[in-house]
Amino acid sequence: MHVRDFDSATLPPAQKAAIWLDVAGRADGNQWRLPLLTITGTAEGPTLVVTAAVHGDEYEGVETIRQVYHRIDPAQVRGTLLMVPVCNVPAYETAQRSSPIDGLNLARVFPGDSNGTITQRIAYWMREKLLQVADFYIDLHSGGVAATIPTLIGYLHEESALGQRSLAGARAFGAPVLWGHPLPIAPGRTVSAATDLGVPWLYTEAPGGGYARPEDVACFTQGVINVMRWLAMLDGAPAPQPTTHHLFGDGDLDSVITATVAGYFRAEVELLERVTRGQRLGAVYNLLGEEIQTVYADQDGIVILLRRVHRVHVGDGLAHITAPLPPPKRA
Ligand SMILES: [Zn+2]
Repeated sequence: MHVRDFDSATLPPAQKAAIWLDVAGRADGNQWRLPLLTITGTAEGPTLVVTAAVHGDEYEGVETIRQVYHRIDPAQVRGTLLMVPVCNVPAYETAQRSSPIDGLNLARVFPGDSNGTITQRIAYWMREKLLQVADFYIDLHSGGVAATIPTLIGYLHEESALGQRSLAGARAFGAPVLWGHPLPIAPGRTVSAATDLGVPWLYTEAPGGGYARPEDVACFTQGVINVMRWLAMLDGAPAPQPTTHHLFGDGDLDSVITATVAGYFRAEVELLERVTRGQRLGAVYNLLGEEIQTVYADQDGIVILLRRVHRVHVGDGLAHITAPLPPPKRA
């Protein structure tokens, strides 16, 4: 079926379905297709949308969606679950973050373009067919091959109803780290598109590295089920794992501490380590072993991202520092 013909409202009740949605033609005459797994319940209820591999080298969500799909019995569901285990199919095919076809990062092109390149078209149809009908949205990411990030839930930290719902969903999901982001959310993202549509959202991160750790898949699988319970799509109370860190920042991993020279990067701090502005975080070395860039913390806070692949080019992100959640304002 072409994705334009898909309508989640016409899915029969009380069943699972695995559907290929054609997006655009490939040079070999076949189609770029989005895989869609749906579970419709026996009663009316919310629509939860879950997506993974918006970046093609992040595998935790791919496996999470397969597990959720197999674990849930439609007879016990109220509402509709729509899940895309791989969104950027061309990037997934080549195990890259961005598409090898048009070079685009799917998480920077929302709201997309129905007449654009393949990545822009995928964004357009994700927004049109999934985000538009969502009552809640979860986008499963990780650090991918190049970066390492603690296992965390990102959410919209804002006093509006949308923000409060995002935070409540984050608490229900449960992860070792919660990371709140104020408005405005940097544009082009799945979650900025959801914000614009008024859909509350969460996203995940995890260490990644081209490998989905079983503990992260377990955390995310339980997290999706927890959110379904919180939304009353499933019976039972959420069973979130404890949160050890609650952090706050813009979450824009495009504005991080970068390499000013090409070379070999060695970090000297750990994820979630508390650092102070000006503290040495690591260094970049040339092939003669000489230190050619000392990398310093640009603010006081907590290390939330570190470069994993040692070889760096000029401009590559090396580290990102975020802040603990500010204390509540006094009345
Ligand atoms: Zn990602």
